Parts: sequence; C-alpha cells; structure tokens
Amino acid sequence: MNIEIDNGSGFCFGVTRAINKAEEELSKGSKLYCLGDIVHNGKECDRLRKLGLITINHDEFATLKSAKVLLRAHGEPPTTYTQAQTNAIEVIDATCPVVLHLQERIKKEYSEVDSSNKQIVIFGKKGHAEVMGLVGQTNGKAIVIESPEEVDKLDFNKDICLYSQTTKSLDDFRKIVEYIKQHISPSATFRYYDTICRQVANRMPHIRDFASRHDVILFVCGKKSSNGRVLYEECKSVNPNSYLIDSATEIDFTWLENCHSIGICGATSTPKWLMEECAKRIQKEGE
Ligand code: SF4
Repeated sequence: MNIEIDNGSGFCFGVTRAINKAEEELSKGSKLYCLGDIVHNGKECDRLRKLGLITINHDEFATLKSAKVLLRAHGEPPTTYTQAQTNAIEVIDATCPVVLHLQERIKKEYSEVDSSNKQIVIFGKKGHAEVMGLVGQTNGKAIVIESPEEVDKLDFNKDICLYSQTTKSLDDFRKIVEYIKQHISPSATFRYYDTICRQVANRMPHIRDFASRHDVILFVCGKKSSNGRVLYEECKSVNPNSYLIDSATEIDFTWLENCHSIGICGATSTPKWLMEECAKRIQKEGE
C-alpha cells in the first residue's frame, strides 16, 4: 500500500513563528501563559503544555498580574493590550504579521472621517479569535458575515467596505463581491479588499491535485480549525473518500479496505509529526 504525506500541508509561517516564540521563552525557564490555544490542534497544544505552556482564557487573563503572556498568531483586539498594560503583563506578541497588517488597515478605515454612512464588513467566522481582533479595531462596529447567504443583511443604500478573515474561502469571497456589486445602490460606494492569506488560498489547487491522486484521503486537523474545514471540503469535493480525523486513533480501517494509495494531509495548524503518526499506525496495522 502506498502512503504519501503531503509536503505542502502543515504549519503556516504565522503558526510556526508563534510556536517558535513560545518554545524560545519556555527554554529560558520563564513561566509563560498563552491567551487561548496557541494553535487549533489539541495534540500540539498538549505537547507545548508538557513543555510548560499554560493556556488561559480571557476571564483568567483579566485576573492575571505581573505575568508573561503570549498572544497567538490570530491576534487580539486593542482591549487586550490595554488590559495587559493595566495589569503589568509582559506581552510576547506572536500575532502573525499578515494579521497585524490587516488589523492596521481596518483600524485606519474605521478612523477615517465620515464612517457614519459606511459599513465595514468582515467576511469571517463569528466568534473566531482573529475576527474578534479585527472587529475590535472598529470598537465592535464592523459587521461580520459568515457566508454569501448572509450578504442580504447589509444595507445596500450605505457605503460598503469589505475585508476578509485571512483563512476564508476565496471562491466565497468572490461570490460576496459579485452579489454586492449587483445590489449596491448607485448612490453608495463599494470597496473591497481581498485579504485572504495565500498561505491557505495557495494550498487549494495543490490539495485538490493531491486528493485526486489517492484512493483515500485522511485529512488530519483539530475540529476547531477554520482553514482545516475549508481545505478538507476541497479534498472532499474531488475525492469523496476523504475523512477528517484529529489523530491516528480516529482512523477507521474499514475506510481503507481495497484501497491502494492513501494520502495524508492537513491544515496550516496540523503538525507534521501528527501526520507521520497516522502513517505509522497504518503501516503497523497493515503488517
Ligand atoms: S494562515 Fe496566514 S495569516 Fe493566518 S497565521 Fe498563517 S500565515 Fe498568518
């Protein structure tokens, strides 16, 4: 049986950078907290927890004083930085530079004069950490739409300025743009910025090709991974024998009956070692 691990899958630049920062701090022996899961992958979080990383939520963060806290690649709203300053928290800022740049653009957009007649719209997942960080740049005023189906809730008589969460689908973003173009009132303006990260978008054609070359695809990612969901759906669209698992123990061997080639791939939050563990389990059971 042929097993191939996709060499285009695995941590993106932003996640690698955040994990390196955490490891660097932990190697100094410092007590380090991380605000939220450092990566949407439970197995990698467990590995870092064993190295000493303490994951906390926003309520716990609010009660911390004089501690060192890492902000993950997704970024945080301005309120988090204010709170850190008030409580003498040393921030290790691992916000991905791509997200940071997007936050700055949205902040500038919001601070421009005459924002009263303008709708700042973010195509993204409600409640997602990155989206909360983006909405925070507008004092909570930005409108979040999760899918092309939600575009109708916008007011087409008012100006629209559209951005996207970095990990959303490029196809859906284009659908939203087309719909708004067709419905916007002649008296209003529409500007849009494709802010989708190519670390994810560029994986689409690659993963489609990879998925079509194998009998069965095992897509390894944490259940909370947003880009994982998008990439998995892409695999499924070209190969119906695609299965989403978060670890080697979830492999159901009935999926692999009569199959000759298995492709193992994952999201930008999937560690390489986890995909390797899946390959090892198949090899072992196969023997
Ligand atoms: S997907 Fe892109 S924007 Fe998001 S953390 Fe990775 S590199 Fe940064």
